[in-house]
Amino acid sequence: ESRLPLPERTRILTISNQKGGVGKTTTTVNLAAALARSGAKVLVIDLDPQGNASTALGVEHRSDTRSVYDVIIDDLPLADVVQESPEEGALYCVPATIHLAGAEIELVSLVAREQRLRRALDLHVKEMAEPYDYVFIDCPPSLGLLTINAFVAAGEVLIPIQCEYYALEGLSQLLKNIELIERHLNPELRVSTILLTMHDSRTNLANQVAQDVRDHFPDQVLETIIPRSVRVSEAPSYGQSVISYDMNSSGSLSYQEAAAELARRGAPRSGGGS
Ligand code: ADP
Ligand code: MG
Repeated sequence: ESRLPLPERTRILTISNQKGGVGKTTTTVNLAAALARSGAKVLVIDLDPQGNASTALGVEHRSDTRSVYDVIIDDLPLADVVQESPEEGALYCVPATIHLAGAEIELVSLVAREQRLRRALDLHVKEMAEPYDYVFIDCPPSLGLLTINAFVAAGEVLIPIQCEYYALEGLSQLLKNIELIERHLNPELRVSTILLTMHDSRTNLANQVAQDVRDHFPDQVLETIIPRSVRVSEAPSYGQSVISYDMNSSGSLSYQEAAAELARRGAPRSGGGS
C-alpha cells in the first residue's frame, strides 16, 4: 500500500442513498480502511441504528456502549465516544447502538435539531492537535433527521450506486433533498463523488447501468467500479475491512483504487454554486 496525498483540511463525507443494501456501509468501511492504511487519519461516524459500520470495523457497540446517540441527544463530547478500530493505521469509529433507532423521534423536539452532529464534530476537530484527514458518515437508508444531520455536518456527499435496473430510481429525490439542504442549511455541501458498486461485468444490464450513470454524472463518477465479490460480503463477519480480510482480492484492490482516486481528486471547490 503506497502513501496517498493528504488533504489540506479535514474532508467530511456523508455516504448516502435512501435505498438500503446499495453498499453504503461497505463503501464507508473499506474506503476509510484503505485511506487509513495509506497514511491518513480517518474517523468513521456510524449513524445507522443497525451499527453495521461499527461491526465491520471491529468496534464495540453493545446497547450499553456510549455512542453517537449520546452525542446527538445528550450533548456528550464526541471525544468521549470515539474508539480506535483494530484495523491497520489511524482509523477511529464513533459507534452506533440500537438506541439510535429512537433518535429520529427524539430529535424532533430538540433545539437546533439539524445541527447537532455538526456542532459536536466542529468542537471535536477544533480541539485536536492533529485533526482527521477524513471523516466518513455512514447514513441510515432514509432521508430523516439523522441523515439531515449528516448532510449539515459534511462538505461532500458520496453516493454509492448499485449497478442494477432500478439504480437511478429515487436518485432525483435524493438530489432534490441535498439541494434543499444546500439552500437552507449548509451552502458548502457538494455531491462530489459517485461510486458504482456490486458490479457484475458479465451482465449487459450492469454495464448499461454503469454507462447511464456516467452519462448523467460525468464529473462525479469514479473511474473505479467495485465488482460484486464474495470476499467483500464475508469480511464484516470477521469484524474486518475486506482489505484486512483478503488484501489481494478483487474487492480489496478496487476499494484501494477508489480510495486513491478520491485522494488524488481532492476536495471539490466550494462557493460559487454547484
Ligand atoms: P447499505 O449500507 O447501503 O445498506 P451494505 O453496504 O450493508 O449496504 O451492503 C448490502 C449487502 O451487500 C451486505 O450484505 C454487503 O455485505 C453486500 N455487499 C456490498 N458490497 C458488495 C460487493 N461489492 N460484493 C458483494 N457483496 C457486497
Ligand atoms: Mg448500511
